[in-house]
Amino acid sequence: MSVCLREIMELQFFKRDGAEALTEEGREKHSKALFLVKRLIRCAVEDGATDIHFEPEEKAVLVRYRIDGVLRDIACYDKKTAAALVSCIKIAADLDITQRKRFQDGGFRGAYEKEDVEFRISTVRDVCGDKMVLRILRTSPTDVSLDKIGLSKEGIATLREFVARQQGVLLISGPTGSGKTTTLYTVLKEVDRIRRNVLTVEDPVEYHLDHTTQIEIDPDKQITFGAALRSSMRQDTNVIMIGEVRDEETAVTAIHLAFSGHLVLSSIHARNASAIVYRLLDLGIEPYLLASALHVLMNQRLVRRLCQSCCLPVRPDSAFFEQLGLPALPTDTIYEPCGCKACGGTGYKGRTGIFELLKMTPELRDAIMNKLPQSKFERIVSQQFQTFLVDGINKVARGETSLAEVVHVAHSI
Ligand SMILES: [Zn+2]
Repeated sequence: MSVCLREIMELQFFKRDGAEALTEEGREKHSKALFLVKRLIRCAVEDGATDIHFEPEEKAVLVRYRIDGVLRDIACYDKKTAAALVSCIKIAADLDITQRKRFQDGGFRGAYEKEDVEFRISTVRDVCGDKMVLRILRTSPTDVSLDKIGLSKEGIATLREFVARQQGVLLISGPTGSGKTTTLYTVLKEVDRIRRNVLTVEDPVEYHLDHTTQIEIDPDKQITFGAALRSSMRQDTNVIMIGEVRDEETAVTAIHLAFSGHLVLSSIHARNASAIVYRLLDLGIEPYLLASALHVLMNQRLVRRLCQSCCLPVRPDSAFFEQLGLPALPTDTIYEPCGCKACGGTGYKGRTGIFELLKMTPELRDAIMNKLPQSKFERIVSQQFQTFLVDGINKVARGETSLAEVVHVAHSI
């Protein structure tokens, strides 16, 4: 644990009333538990984990980290020790340690080296005990940029061209956990935030960006996507990032904002980039408005990167490619995961995106205006743009990921 993390964590843990109200014996147990909790958190942050799970089983409690999107067993504690760890985290997050039967949510902040780290806690009562998940949010994505998330040169150029525009809409689709928010932030980071007024409406705010007004949704205080977007129109805003277009009101407002001189970026639930158009038509947007407002549509997935210390070369099985209808490989060597100390025995280290990126063309705008069936629209797209499966296969050919990863992601559509 870095000195910085330790100091800040201690301040935050011991400042809480809950810990001070403990008996002397309780305080001693609390400080031992605190030591273990800090070690677990430090290791998780260092290993790049996004979540820590405390999972009660019949006789013990399992601790697992989610690294690169996959859970990994880390430690196992007896129930007494685990109960002390869970209580310690509940105190830090201002949760009620006596309340075990209802769901509880909370959080606390820390710092790792010079980076702010936010922890969001959620507990539920499992039949075997308290199940707790700590979500780790690295709040300053300083190391994330457009050229590091797996985009092609053409893709980067399209996005840079988009952020230089005065108005228009960029939408990105993909399942939960496919890196949409990170991509939206990397695009926002390309905006000239010194000269332009940038506002985000998010649920929740995941990263903090300088020169940006960030609004967090809070329905209890009537801060909804719709209300926040309406107020953004009175805030002399140039660029607006909406966490997600979920309903008709948000969709209509987003399109309206694009027509009133704003650059709008958001995510939406849709099967692929083409399906975004039909999702918006289903939400009641007029085809002529959609055809002129949309500029860039994206679809993305995350695949694990092969560990470069241990991956093994193999000859690709061409019959397998044909059987799955995959595009032919431009190489006769691909790589498979093996497992070593550097990657915790998994064969993978880090993740990269695979993308489908569609830039509106006059032909596509006509197709929307004429409300062509989705299958016809998709055919036009496949003739002009690379699908995310082709992007994935190109990454396999370059040895960045394995065929198994791409096939797995392709099947999870
Ligand atoms: Zn390895």
